[in-house]
Amino acid sequence: MTLRAVNWTMLAARAAELDRQDALAPFRGRFHVPEGMIYLDGNSLGLLPHATAERMRAVVDGEWGQKLITSWNGADWIGAPQRIGALLAPLIGAEAGSVIACDSVSVNLFKLAVAGLRSNAGRRVILTEAGNFPTDVYVLEGVAALAGAELRVVPREDVVANLREDVALLVLTHAHYRSAALWDMAAVTAAARDAGVMTLWDLSHSTGAVAVDLAGCGADFAVGCGYKYLNGGPGAPAFAYVAPRHQDGLSQPLSGWMGHASPFAFEDDYRPAAGVTRLLAGTPPILAMAALECGVAIAAEAGIAPAAAKARALGDLFIDCLDLIGDPDVRLESPRAGDAVARGGHVTFAHPDAYAVVQAMIARGVVGDYREPCGARFGFSPLTLGFGEVVQAGQVLAEVLGGRLWDDEALRARRAVT
Ligand SMILES: *Cc1c(COP(=O)(O)O)cnc(C)c1O
Repeated sequence: MTLRAVNWTMLAARAAELDRQDALAPFRGRFHVPEGMIYLDGNSLGLLPHATAERMRAVVDGEWGQKLITSWNGADWIGAPQRIGALLAPLIGAEAGSVIACDSVSVNLFKLAVAGLRSNAGRRVILTEAGNFPTDVYVLEGVAALAGAELRVVPREDVVANLREDVALLVLTHAHYRSAALWDMAAVTAAARDAGVMTLWDLSHSTGAVAVDLAGCGADFAVGCGYKYLNGGPGAPAFAYVAPRHQDGLSQPLSGWMGHASPFAFEDDYRPAAGVTRLLAGTPPILAMAALECGVAIAAEAGIAPAAAKARALGDLFIDCLDLIGDPDVRLESPRAGDAVARGGHVTFAHPDAYAVVQAMIARGVVGDYREPCGARFGFSPLTLGFGEVVQAGQVLAEVLGGRLWDDEALRARRAVT
């Protein structure tokens, strides 16, 4: 037996032991897991819960098909945004009544960035980091143009030093979409508050995989994604958080009827609803809301502390696999266990031909994704993955790299979605 084989055997044995001790293992049975696939992309689109498929049939056939418009009251369709927000709140350390499910992350960023500028009158700068998730920067560009504000995009290491007296709002993604490096939310929020800067946190890559304490950190605003670790389905509604101290004064720009104090009074003038309900604009997409609710309910049942611990342990095991492979062309972009910076639920490594590496793995049943310019990214959804699968994925990667199975023109052709 070679040394390498012994080491794979050892990793597999460790994985088996971790699987035996895993209190979250039964949650996997709640999801449809495609036969023969090791799915390491739940950070981009989470698996389908069995309950969702059943619930969709009930909503379509019963609530929509049979009961039609009476379901707004009878099935409480109208209460879905607040109800899902209440389920979500404990996962992100939010106060009761401070979270609402609606729109997309992009739209919620727009509403809250404008609201933040209006709340911090006299300051005209929005600060964010270079290399933030594209939609965040694009939306902030739009907000700045519309509001006559300035968008200041600075390197990650310069963000805190740029919390100056002209900055109204700091917008950061808690877990970076490439590296999964976590901002120290408590420290950065405190530094911002000391400088009179409000904070808007994008939790898209955190919620369901990382413990977040918005209330404990004193964050002002947050948004997050429903279709990643929350398993809400493709294009699921997102969510928004507003700290209780800002809710009554909040002025958001998409002042639609669902955010009105009395939508069915059909008044001529806008009066905002109390609390976070004023973040609603139009009619909630009920089919998508029903699917999101099923995913969020499972995450809420599991609890964020064990889920976060498992996501980290799965990622650590994958990094052990990368170390064992020891390919000189592989450079880890994500923090390791024990690094000063903590890591979220995914792991990214750079490789000169990362796109083809990811395609070669997908062809062998291990699904990850690719992020420009050279990142192979693998997500470790704690409720749907086992430790044994991580080691199997590592062995497939070892074959792909060791045999240069990626070195094939057909694997380099880019599709529309990477
Ligand atoms: C996934 C993700 C989004 C998604 O935005 P949508 O408007 O819902 O498409 C936004 N920001 C970050 C950081 C993300 O990871």
